[in-house]
Amino acid sequence: TYPAYVVEEKGEPARLRRLTDADLPDGDVTVDVTHSSLNFKDGLAVTGKGPIARRLPMVCGIDLAGTVSASKSPRWKPGDDVVLTGWGLSETHPGGYTTRQRVRGEWLVARPEALTAEQSMAIGTAGLTAMLCVLALEGSGATPGQGPVLVTGASGGVGSVAVAVLAKLGYEVVAATGRPESHGYLTDLGAASFVDRAELSGAGRPLQKERWAHAVDAVGSTTLVSVLSQTAYRGSVAACGLAGGNDLPATVLPFILRGVSLLGVDSVQCPADVRTEAWARLGADLPQDLLARLTTTRGFADIPQLAEDILAGRTRGRVVIDING
Ligand code: NAP
Repeated sequence: TYPAYVVEEKGEPARLRRLTDADLPDGDVTVDVTHSSLNFKDGLAVTGKGPIARRLPMVCGIDLAGTVSASKSPRWKPGDDVVLTGWGLSETHPGGYTTRQRVRGEWLVARPEALTAEQSMAIGTAGLTAMLCVLALEGSGATPGQGPVLVTGASGGVGSVAVAVLAKLGYEVVAATGRPESHGYLTDLGAASFVDRAELSGAGRPLQKERWAHAVDAVGSTTLVSVLSQTAYRGSVAACGLAGGNDLPATVLPFILRGVSLLGVDSVQCPADVRTEAWARLGADLPQDLLARLTTTRGFADIPQLAEDILAGRTRGRVVIDING
């Protein structure tokens, strides 16, 4: 048998259970999981505070990294080092908070050679999402030198990786955070200056002084509305999160009077070719010393407490789960 954090009842927290191979779901590749990670969505799932699992029982953990132990897929063979983020893990398919999982081969990517399993999970869904936001901004014409780029939820997982990558690429990064004690940490990642998140949390006038050439938003709600109102002519805002709420009480004025673009970013079903590009770019544009600086590694038994912590805004950067730790 092996341990797993499992949600059994809607609205209830995940419980530590022992599973056997008979509990493994359908799939053509079995992975010995060594690492997973902690994302906002994992916080919602493990505490039972958000309706993440769409069928029960469900093993939590939206990410996993490990080694293939058995495969019926022509793409993978035993011994291959693999990474899986998203694709409905912990929603429609059992996830990574366990030591063994069976998945579909097409969901896996080969772990980039430059990364250990731990580093790949330090990136995880949040890091991939941050890079997808950067790719979205680039796709709409963003280049360094156009002006400051705002990152909201900056001390969080998505935010920290976005700050580090954008700074490495040469952007002037402004970090919006509610935690003044994170300023030193964010400066080390490359932030040039700061905005108190309270300044952005009220919706305010629909068109405000143009402050940001572009932005990455992990917060949503009235924060995203403020960001749109303050984005410069023809600027772009990549929206990926709802840490502040899933509503968007906005006007169309930034779009129709300033040509601002709102770019939606999803990592869960992101197509394989875009994922591969994003992982390659993370290898090139996220320096390993910065990745180490934004990462904390914790043990399997810490998952329930960490889930509470991430929802309460008490975690910083990325948290790796050492499944055997
Ligand atoms: P996280 O580590 O908890 O980061 C969220 C950050 O947002 C917090 O650290 C905090 O930053 C800020 N924040 C929290 N509550 C807030 C509030 N009420 N008002 C304003 N700011 C608030 O979570 P994460 O894993 O990085 O995920 C960030 C968001 O992106 C989540 O909503 C998550 O669901 C979403 N996400 C979406 C995708 C996708 O595919 N679209 C993928 C990954 C994540 P400060 O302390 O610095 O203020």
